Amino acid sequence: MKPPPPIPAENGSVTPRTAAATTAASTAFPPRRRVSIAACVAIRSTLRGGTTGADRGRRAGSSTDVSRRPHSGDERHQDGENGKKWTVAASAHETPLSPAPLSQLAAALVEACRRTEWLNPHMLLAPVEYARPSSLAEAVRLLGAYDGARPLAGGQTLTNVMKARAAAPDVLVDLNGLAELRTISRAADGGLQLGTMATLSELIRSSDVAEARPIIAEVSSQIADIQVRNRGTIGGNICSNDPTNHLPPLMAALGATMTIRGADGERTVAADDFFLGVYMTAVEPGELLTTIAIPAAGEARDGFASVTIGEDGTCIVNAAATVQNGQARIALGCVAAVPTLLTSAPDEAAVRGAVQAAELDPPSDVHASADYRRHLAEVVAVRAVAEASA
Ligand SMILES: Cc1cc2nc3c(=O)[nH]c(=O)nc-3n(C[C@H](O)[C@H](O)[C@H](O)COP(=O)(O)OP(=O)(O)OC[C@H]3O[C@@H](n4cnc5c(N)ncnc54)[C@H](O)[C@@H]3O)c2cc1C
Repeated sequence: MKPPPPIPAENGSVTPRTAAATTAASTAFPPRRRVSIAACVAIRSTLRGGTTGADRGRRAGSSTDVSRRPHSGDERHQDGENGKKWTVAASAHETPLSPAPLSQLAAALVEACRRTEWLNPHMLLAPVEYARPSSLAEAVRLLGAYDGARPLAGGQTLTNVMKARAAAPDVLVDLNGLAELRTISRAADGGLQLGTMATLSELIRSSDVAEARPIIAEVSSQIADIQVRNRGTIGGNICSNDPTNHLPPLMAALGATMTIRGADGERTVAADDFFLGVYMTAVEPGELLTTIAIPAAGEARDGFASVTIGEDGTCIVNAAATVQNGQARIALGCVAAVPTLLTSAPDEAAVRGAVQAAELDPPSDVHASADYRRHLAEVVAVRAVAEASA
């Protein structure tokens, strides 16, 4: 059993946790688990609680409850106090004949029950530690220092899967204090440098995005509802790599390059190699996606099309396309664990032929059969290329 982490006191440190909680947290998200696309749609549908915008709003609102966890230094200290109380409670429990007053023992027992998940199945989250680093270096150090540490971006996916007990990270490393990850700027060649903590709403409002690659704002504005867009980040969207997400196929079609930072320094990964499976990307445990570079458009034009469950709902199938020099680069989403990349001439027959030649093997679920998804893949690919060619 792994010993509990030390108790560092500086800013950005984590508080001690119990050995039991550490063990439970070894099933952290995303621990290289394979999940079906149908399951992703089901999870997203559950989070949405239906297909109406109003319902989605309420659900998204409730999902942010967890963000009320302590943020300030004082409140972090409070967590540390709780950690110590657990230790006291455990030893009091092991020493029933201690001379401590009965009221003190009773209080210790109640506290032990409160902190122990199996005695309190109504707790919203499994025990988890929290750190809010103030520098990128500190964030990377924390992610490398704790096996079950996970970055927390907008929390729109992560806190929901934690609430559903589908994930139990050991330590949440909150990236929201890192201003350097929130930048949106133009590169020297006219492309875009997007910090991973840029929210979907910030992408929608950005004049740099509007000038360089407006498709990013167009697609971001189709995602969920305003609560989700205000909190959800581009980094979280692509790092979760839910196959029903809008941005992974868009990043693939645009030929984005991801910069990943870890203890050994930085490396860059092309979008083609970034998405590895459902909830799996090239970002390894202990690493952080810091920047997404989008190449300058030049003569290229972009398009996106999707068929969703209800208005602005989860995608059943989507496609992003970039057309340049008489060639279309198309990325299909929701038909496999990772975006499916195709190239084709930009006319309808050629696009349909390219999709058919890809021999897609999409899942069947309550929203669409595999055959229907194959059909929709052709339809949205043609529409995305038509938008890019217009
Ligand atoms: C009700 C609802 C409906 C939604 N519908 C859609 C939809 O239709 N289409 C769509 O595209 N999206 C949808 N989303 C997802 C949303 O758009 C967010 O992008 C997504 O939840 C993740 O972004 P986040 O910033 O909240 O990330 P988090 O939830 O904080 O993190 C998600 C995952 O990414 C990891 N992570 C985050 N940042 C980094 C980083 N910099 N480096 C390494 N790992 C990182 C986290 O550790 C975690 O594993 C929906 C969300 C909700 C709640």
